[in-house]
Amino acid sequence: MKKRAETAVPGKTETEETAPEKGILHPEKPLADDERDAGLRPKTLKEFLGQTAMKDNLRVFITAAKERRESLDHLFLIGPPGLGKTTLAQVVARELDVDFKVTSAPALEKPKDLAGILTTVTEKTVFFIDEIHRLKPAIEEMLYIAMEDYELDWIIGQGPSARTIRIPVPPFTLVGATTKAGNVSSPLISRFGITCRFSFYEQQDMEAIIKRSAGILKTAIEGDAASMLAKSSRGTPRVANRLLRRMRDFSQVLRSPSITCAILEEGLKRLEIDTLGLERYDREILRMIIERYRGGPVGAETLAISVGETVDTLEDYYEPYLIQAGLLQRTPRGRMVTDYAYRHLNIPQTAASNENSGFLI
Ligand code: ADP
Repeated sequence: MKKRAETAVPGKTETEETAPEKGILHPEKPLADDERDAGLRPKTLKEFLGQTAMKDNLRVFITAAKERRESLDHLFLIGPPGLGKTTLAQVVARELDVDFKVTSAPALEKPKDLAGILTTVTEKTVFFIDEIHRLKPAIEEMLYIAMEDYELDWIIGQGPSARTIRIPVPPFTLVGATTKAGNVSSPLISRFGITCRFSFYEQQDMEAIIKRSAGILKTAIEGDAASMLAKSSRGTPRVANRLLRRMRDFSQVLRSPSITCAILEEGLKRLEIDTLGLERYDREILRMIIERYRGGPVGAETLAISVGETVDTLEDYYEPYLIQAGLLQRTPRGRMVTDYAYRHLNIPQTAASNENSGFLI
């Protein structure tokens, strides 16, 4: 049976280059270490921890497709960065025992880039497109036909003599991943038969992921320390793996036989990561809302300018976790910090900020 992983186009490069220069916790930015993450990446559904309901359904769809000897229906993966979308796509290919191809929407500049990949897919290949919300309209059009009819519309010639030919493509499974489902057009969404929505991982799943990774890295970590590290990992496996490697460095250099709570406290303090897994930059965003906008509401654009970020980066990478952690709220009037944010940052709530208390949780 064929089982081959290919990077069809160096798609992740553009993301890496355009990603903001931020701390180690921000999972959108692949770091050099992540490249060495291959060994940590789960290979089967069994190894893929957490996201149980989603995984159970997927197992049914995979089994059914295999029994019918058909390609799996197109799969739409939604969720913040670092939660396992790429990993799950690879796992699906492996479980189906088919080829895997990967690219990202920004790397598909011209229809010929997409055609170049689709003309090389084999039967039932899992073709993964990351950041699918960034597809160009002409490419999206081409993809519709490929997804629906397993054909490619190809224009030959120019001007009045131009004509379209249809090239058959073997039945394949498109796996589209996005951090911004709201930016994906409804015609594209409607062509996916299966949707998986990732949520931040539960504490116990994060602990299990950390223990699994520590085992693979041959690093001893005490139970309490794994639990503490899980709390600081933003419910995100990529962050957990990064922090684990840094804590392994601290324990090695501090000559500790294992990662202990004391090592973690020291390591996290040095990296300026707090107990909720916030880095300095996250705290700056919250402080900005409190100090300059009396706790909010403040519009996303104004806030983004104030903190020197793009709205996209703010919305995709910082806000989801701040909201999930109960520190920030999105309201129709803008972003607001919660009571909990004041307490976490140890900032007293003034009369001015209390004006908003009706909205605070
Ligand atoms: P995304 O594509 O959503 O940004 P990735 O699939 O690249 O995220 O996952 C980041 C890293 O986190 C992977 O390299 C893998 O080691 C780890 N990881 C992700 N999901 C899981 C999981 N469910 N169980 C264990 N490790 C995971």
